[in-house]
Amino acid sequence: MPYRGRVTPSAARTGPLSTTHLTPEFLPGTVWLVGAGPGDPGLLTLHAANALAGADVVVHDALVDERILGMARAGASLEFAGKRGGRESVAQERITTRLIALAREGRRVLRLKGGDPFVFGRGGEEALALARADIPFRIIPGVSSGLASLAIHGIPATTRDSNHAVILATGHCADGRAADWAALARTGAPLVLYMAVANLASIAEALRAGGLPGSTPALIVHAATTEAEAVLDATLDTLPRLAAERAVLSPAIVVIGAVAAFRAQIVDHLLPLTQDGHASAESAAGAAA
Ligand code: SAH
Repeated sequence: MPYRGRVTPSAARTGPLSTTHLTPEFLPGTVWLVGAGPGDPGLLTLHAANALAGADVVVHDALVDERILGMARAGASLEFAGKRGGRESVAQERITTRLIALAREGRRVLRLKGGDPFVFGRGGEEALALARADIPFRIIPGVSSGLASLAIHGIPATTRDSNHAVILATGHCADGRAADWAALARTGAPLVLYMAVANLASIAEALRAGGLPGSTPALIVHAATTEAEAVLDATLDTLPRLAAERAVLSPAIVVIGAVAAFRAQIVDHLLPLTQDGHASAESAAGAAA
């Protein structure tokens, strides 16, 4: 049967980067809370690129890629507002205070966060503080590192055969309240874990205790879509040992679930995201070793 997709007349097309896409305008005295994606500038949204071209100040996290910061307007100032160490709440308050002050000075303030600002990014807290301070702001979603790590390595987050849900969870809880791993294990849904590297052994143990088989396929992706990217194939049983042996560090995404095995069927034909192929080829060989 011939393909009968809808054909858009060429008169309706605007071209890949016409100004139609680059709205709305970045107005002085406003804040844009923007997701920068996992690293590769190709995964930025056009809204994020627009914000980088228009911002007076870019207040960014540690996880925002240098290549993306390099896209800021020549006259824009860059401010690092990462959080390191244990004093997160103090640092967070300082960041929101700074955003509010810059907006009140009449600047175009770009708050740039890794991945999506509202996925384990504390974007909600910043939005709330801006709202309370009566500052107009816009929220631009980004490609979250969890979903990007799956897709670029050939793991569908869902397939009709295997699962109807997917769980995004953090392996690090600042206030000491861990996720209910046994409850998550019982869902049978694939787990996509952020900030989990430091606690892998105890998380794997809790998932096994919750009934998840030790043979469940798993994958770790370190620094997805950056030059430092590394990928490690494992199972729930081998995950903590392999991660320790290979000294896998943060930032990394850990996926645990049957979907992680899907990639074996397609990975040989999967072209890397970038021309130089820093991601797939190298690391697939490394992971198989
Ligand atoms: N808002 C971000 C998550 C911030 S929490 C997002 O949506 O992606 C920080 C955690 O995100 C890291 O500890 C790591 O688990 C994950 N992460 C962020 N960037 C990553 C990347 N390029 N590769 C792998 N993991 C990443």
